[in-house]
Amino acid sequence: MSTQTVDPKPQTSANLVQIGSAIEDTIQQRLAEERSRLEREAGVATREVHHFKRPAERHFTRDQRAQTTLLFGGLTWKHEKLVHGALVGLGYRAEAVPTPNVKAFQAGKEYGNNGQCNPTYFTVGNLVQYLQTLEEQGIPKQEIIDRYVFFTAGACGPCRFGMYEAEYRLALRNAGFDGFRVLLFQQSGGLSQSDAEAGLEMNIDFFLGILNSLNCGDVMNEVAYALRPFEVNSGDTDRILDESMDYLHEVFRKKRPWKLDEGMGKYLGGFSDTAEYVGKFVNQLKGDEYVPALERCRDSFNHIDIDRLRVKPIVKITGEFWAQTTEGDGNFNMFSFLEREGAQVLVEPIGTWIMYMIHQVIQKYKDFKGLEEGAVLPPLWKLGTRAKIEFGFRQKVAKLKLAEAIFKSEYHKIVNALGGIAHHLADQYELQRLGHPFYNSRAGGGEGHLEVAKNIYYSNKDLAHMVLSLKPFGCMPSTQSDGAQSAVVSGYKDMIYLPVETSGEGEINAHSRVQMALGEAKNKAKKEFAAALEETHLTLDQCRAWVEANPESKRPLYRVPHQKGVVGGAANFVHHIAARMANESARAN
Ligand code: SF4
Repeated sequence: MSTQTVDPKPQTSANLVQIGSAIEDTIQQRLAEERSRLEREAGVATREVHHFKRPAERHFTRDQRAQTTLLFGGLTWKHEKLVHGALVGLGYRAEAVPTPNVKAFQAGKEYGNNGQCNPTYFTVGNLVQYLQTLEEQGIPKQEIIDRYVFFTAGACGPCRFGMYEAEYRLALRNAGFDGFRVLLFQQSGGLSQSDAEAGLEMNIDFFLGILNSLNCGDVMNEVAYALRPFEVNSGDTDRILDESMDYLHEVFRKKRPWKLDEGMGKYLGGFSDTAEYVGKFVNQLKGDEYVPALERCRDSFNHIDIDRLRVKPIVKITGEFWAQTTEGDGNFNMFSFLEREGAQVLVEPIGTWIMYMIHQVIQKYKDFKGLEEGAVLPPLWKLGTRAKIEFGFRQKVAKLKLAEAIFKSEYHKIVNALGGIAHHLADQYELQRLGHPFYNSRAGGGEGHLEVAKNIYYSNKDLAHMVLSLKPFGCMPSTQSDGAQSAVVSGYKDMIYLPVETSGEGEINAHSRVQMALGEAKNKAKKEFAAALEETHLTLDQCRAWVEANPESKRPLYRVPHQKGVVGGAANFVHHIAARMANESARAN
């Protein structure tokens, strides 16, 4: 027998909705009551949450330019000095904030968010600290807010770099500088990022000025690190570097952007803007305003007496962009420590990073071809439309490839003007080929696959005895690449690779780890030198006698070829001496 009861009044669908919503309300109400009861029992007070929101920005306008100082920083003092010269040359008041120290790191922790990566604390705290110093000097807070702006690079991530801008603003607000302006140039923003009425005109003149100063800063920096360990008279390299940087600063300060002749502009009418744009590029490529200045610096460096027979392990620096660049507490003053410990430091140029960004955009275009939102591939028979799409794609890639080629050749022009002492930029396609099997080259953030790729590149090409990777604590991409490095090291048995996590604390521990790895690298360099002497049947005294008889070999510009399989400068020099001796005796017979 069936027990089913029959509802005398069948429900309409409107009634059912009403009942459903009443049940849902009751559930929500009971849930809320139960949550409050449990919170009361656990003693957890419900607080109102005020999330930080990007404040409405006060604009920095053209008419404020004469009374406003642009603050910037985060690089080496050499890069910053030239960027300063370029900004002043473009008509700005500018000041570089000093290299961040541990106090800046503490200020970053005090005023910023928890859980940030190390460079955020250092750089954000450094700005706050600098503004506090201005205040201590007697400049009223409001005047600092009104008359200074901070200018920095920005990105949308994917690592914490995307949060920097918000971090600056939050820390500034917490430190009492609410309303202080932070200007960003976006890494992916191209050559023109503002209108002409903006206080900071991020136009082609601005970008060419900044790129030229960064490139010259890179090469001057590398030349100084290449010569200092071998200088016979201590302090010569730094003295000449200081003088040369002062001189180059003046060259950048006095440089005026190329402009189209007024008469020609009138004649070209509507095409004058394009003509001026093209003219600036051609002037950059064909002009040689910087070359004679760099050659003068090269000649000054060439006065330094160097001893090429000093056996030094070459330590290539890699890691995260900021940690591998800064020359202060942010990486435990690692470069000066390495030099004191008897190493030759091979620094990382900012140019590699710029090339990497162009390279990644090219890869992205290739990967996304035909996958843009709303893209529809026309049917096969619509050949004209298909050809148009293909042409558009090829045009985009060709432009970027051109930018890549121009940047590389401009960089190498500077390397050559400074005597070819610094290295050429590592090829991005080769880096991608080397790094990709270990770290997907499409995984962005931080240095991406570069950390892994550079480790292989510098070890395999006999360019370094040891690779030291400086990675900030809390750095997401570096942590990922650390995992991949274990696979790399197991595949390349002779590699000496050391990752060091940089932070505001732990300098002694980091230095002692580096000392241990450096001990191995020193042994490697000594064995290589001994092998070179044995192979060439020369003694150190014979080599020294040859140098005295050929004093031109003491000059930094004297070229010593790189022997396959030989890393160190001293070992390569021994092979070179042997080759020269053999030539001389062949000529004598
Ligand atoms: S690369 Fe690492 S350290 Fe640098 S901003 Fe990104 S997360 Fe921070």
